[in-house]
Amino acid sequence: MFIGHYGVSLAVKRLRPSLSLGGLFLAAQLLDVLFCVFILLGVEKLRIVPGFTAYNPYDLYFMPYTHSLLGALLWAGAAALAVLLLWRAPAAAAALAGLAVFSHFVLDVPVHTPDLPLAAESTFKLGLSLWNYRFVALALELACLGAGLALYLSTSRPRTPSGRWLALGASAFLLALTCATPFLPPPPSPAAFAVQALGSYLALAALAVWLDRSRTLAPLPQGAPAGR
Ligand SMILES: [Zn+2]
Repeated sequence: MFIGHYGVSLAVKRLRPSLSLGGLFLAAQLLDVLFCVFILLGVEKLRIVPGFTAYNPYDLYFMPYTHSLLGALLWAGAAALAVLLLWRAPAAAAALAGLAVFSHFVLDVPVHTPDLPLAAESTFKLGLSLWNYRFVALALELACLGAGLALYLSTSRPRTPSGRWLALGASAFLLALTCATPFLPPPPSPAAFAVQALGSYLALAALAVWLDRSRTLAPLPQGAPAGR
């Protein structure tokens, strides 16, 4: 999964408006950001095999540090601890940031081929292979992103008149990018993939910071958790 992960970021932002939407965009993709860095360092590996799945050409054959169940839990715990200690956020907000990190693994399981180990590389690998069904995988991405966008946009309002257009533009851009992803040409090399993906994650986080600044969230109904 790629853009669909941001549905979780938008939903967590709704629950905890004090968390930065840009930070939550990075949190939901932290495992992929680290995967790209580890590819460039030669620590984790992928092969580009055109037609490997109907959705993308990536044979993700060695990613135990970022995309194992154990790895995802440890990175989520580390992220929660960082939010707690470095940003001095309340424990509940830090836990939600950690949950956003872990949600990446949960949403990867249905779409990946069996390449997500439980712990070390030699352990049982998870993956329900929905990437073999291009339009099913695309529908799942759009459902996750769409649900997050609908929740966030319906419960927030623009601070300025231009904020309304930014929300419309950002939503249309994210939905269009989701639809284009399975049809993009394969990158020339794993390193090129890593650089392109890292650039996309940073650019989309910057877009989220911009969107965040342009909107105010309505208070949650009585009985729901407070803003901070
Ligand atoms: Zn991933």
